[in-house]
Amino acid sequence: MPTKQVVRPRIRGYICVSAHPDGCAAHVREQIECAKASPQLRDGPKSVLIIGASTGYGLASRIALAYGAHAATLGVFFEKPPENGRPASAGWYNSAAFEEQARKDGIWVKSLNGDAFGDAMKEQAIQVIKKEMPKIDLVVYSLASPRRTDPKTGLSHRSVLKPIGQTFTSKTLDTDRNRIEEITLEAATENDIADTVKVMGGEDWELWMEALDAAGVLAHGCQSVAYSYLGPQVTWPVYKNGTIGRAKQDLTRAANAIDALLKLRRGRAFVSVNKAVVTQSSSAIPVVPLYIALLFRAMKSRSIHEGCIQQVCRLFSTQVYNDNFLDFDDEGYVRMDNWELREDVQKEVFDLWPRITTENMNELTDYVGYQKEFLKLFGFGLPDIDYEAPTELDAPIAGL
Ligand code: NAD
Repeated sequence: MPTKQVVRPRIRGYICVSAHPDGCAAHVREQIECAKASPQLRDGPKSVLIIGASTGYGLASRIALAYGAHAATLGVFFEKPPENGRPASAGWYNSAAFEEQARKDGIWVKSLNGDAFGDAMKEQAIQVIKKEMPKIDLVVYSLASPRRTDPKTGLSHRSVLKPIGQTFTSKTLDTDRNRIEEITLEAATENDIADTVKVMGGEDWELWMEALDAAGVLAHGCQSVAYSYLGPQVTWPVYKNGTIGRAKQDLTRAANAIDALLKLRRGRAFVSVNKAVVTQSSSAIPVVPLYIALLFRAMKSRSIHEGCIQQVCRLFSTQVYNDNFLDFDDEGYVRMDNWELREDVQKEVFDLWPRITTENMNELTDYVGYQKEFLKLFGFGLPDIDYEAPTELDAPIAGL
């Protein structure tokens, strides 16, 4: 099979099953430029483990810390390499591009590709840290996955996005057909809730931290952050009060347990509630894409719009480092969604919500911006890329 091909977007439902290597590299370069433009972190970390490091918030965290603090980063992710003439997944190309650039810039990087939920990956990461890295002073937990095999029981669990207690009917944006529709989601069963907590709750984060602690690879003062989302009332039935919200509550339980563990070495663990952005995970949640299209319009018109990289740069520079204190809310969360939830922003979204139809959605929402962001996740629509030219599908990542 020739490894050079013209790569076009192949969208199936809410996912794009192809990815453009040069476009993904350009997207990573954009994020690197953004991180470099932010002031350097004064007391930033030296050695960072990022679990879920290839796309979305995890990739942005990796870039922000590598370029904001010159941190060595070990990135764990689950991505598809190129094979049999098919392009790799976007996260693979992102990681290949990030590693290549970071090495050129003299920044230490290493990546591990495989199932982070398993014991084998935890052991592999520990061995890399022991042999090649200073002790870890920050662990970023940014996994988003539809399934998890419990390493203790061997049982597989699937997360679902369902309301709890009653069915929920709402307006939604079908991003495949570009149409506003009504969607009815059936209420979750007890099993659905338990499975979603197993996959997206805090158990695996705890297992990681316990394993790292037991192996003696955490530095004095080590911190750990996991990302969460709460959002506005229109999405609560499917998010905050739904199965995924239960899983996020469990993340908070885990944060407290990990915090107690890390305090023994003067460290801490916390949950950062981030703003809604277009990622492979958020585009799969019913109702959320319509909300994001409205939100982007409201935030862009006020010049307070942020993507993943701007959010995490603000998190690290104004909360975690530079002699700042974590500004916890009453429930113990760091709130990076404070601009999203501003009253004027939410009022605009809330006022427009009932008026949106298929006919007026391009005028009343930033669906055009949403679609551009979505395609960009897979390396499409970036400037200065010749999308008509065959491109090299192979993109090696050292050691993988
Ligand atoms: P994403 O889909 O962009 O990234 C998920 C990452 O997890 C990827 O690196 C992927 O390779 C990795 N991954 C998935 N399964 C894996 C496995 N079994 N083993 C190893 N790696 C695996 O997701 P995202 O939207 O950036 O979400 C990351 C976190 O941020 C989640 O906790 C999410 O709830 C939270 N968050 C997201 C948003 C949003 O709007 N997207 C908002 C606030 C908080």
